[in-house]
Amino acid sequence: MKIIHSIAELKAHLGEHKVQSQQIGLVPTMGALHEGHIRLVERCVQENAVCVVSVFVNPTQFNDKNDLLSYPRTPEQDAEMLRKAGCKYVFMPSAEEMYPEPDTRLFDFGPLERVMEGSFRPGHFNGVAQIVSKLFDVVMPDRAYFGEKDFQQLAIIRQMNKDLHYPIEIVACPIVREKDGLAMSSRNRRLSSEEREKAPLIAELLFKSATFVPVKSIQDTISFVTQGLAKDPTFRLEYFEIVDGDTLQTVENWEDSSYIVGCIAIFCGPVRLIDNVVYKYKKSC
Ligand code: AMP
Repeated sequence: MKIIHSIAELKAHLGEHKVQSQQIGLVPTMGALHEGHIRLVERCVQENAVCVVSVFVNPTQFNDKNDLLSYPRTPEQDAEMLRKAGCKYVFMPSAEEMYPEPDTRLFDFGPLERVMEGSFRPGHFNGVAQIVSKLFDVVMPDRAYFGEKDFQQLAIIRQMNKDLHYPIEIVACPIVREKDGLAMSSRNRRLSSEEREKAPLIAELLFKSATFVPVKSIQDTISFVTQGLAKDPTFRLEYFEIVDGDTLQTVENWEDSSYIVGCIAIFCGPVRLIDNVVYKYKKSC
């Protein structure tokens, strides 16, 4: 495994694989890796001759300076985990390498970006699209791997991939959870031990609420989750929405769509966590 910091060096290595028609997979990450990331990497290793993992805390997707400053960074540990998982190239660029000039591009993803994360984190998805499009341009992978934990991000990336005509297969990977149900996240390591003990309630309520379909109404389902979390002052809900899994727009009744997902963003102490649960699966799944 090679650790690479410059775009030119990465392109030179990948060029050698491309002339041999070897398929390349990309896993974009912000580091502080955990088992959830590694599952994406393992799939990328299985499905491609060459696995590239980027580790870059992208400043343009943070709308909150403190969140950027406090984002965990563990490059040596990340490299070790990636080596064990079979990654071939770790790309760890500096901010200057990725943004020699400020990126002034503005993306418009329409209704997809105006809800949930998009409305609570203004500019976030523009920053995500800036960095992911740059990584796509540099690596030009055959496949790129993203987690369903960031459900809205996945929809945005699929849209960007279409809009910019990238010939890249976007591979969605299921949420990886701790034994107690908490969705794995780099941010979990910032939870105090008391907050960490309480955090699994989020997934517990989401899973229980999934048993309500189709008997209880969507409104009752939302109340069950939000009221369950409101009982403990450790939690501060930002949003919980039940949406069409493709358009991300809210649905009123279970019959309104064949693919329905509940998405939540909630502070547990000072740490903002996101999670989601599928209420109705796409017919093809
Ligand atoms: P991040 O480093 O948080 O930007 O995440 C990098 C990629 O890993 C994104 O595509 C995430 O959706 C994915 N990811 C993060 N946590 C998980 C998880 N618990 N399960 C599955 N994928 C995840």
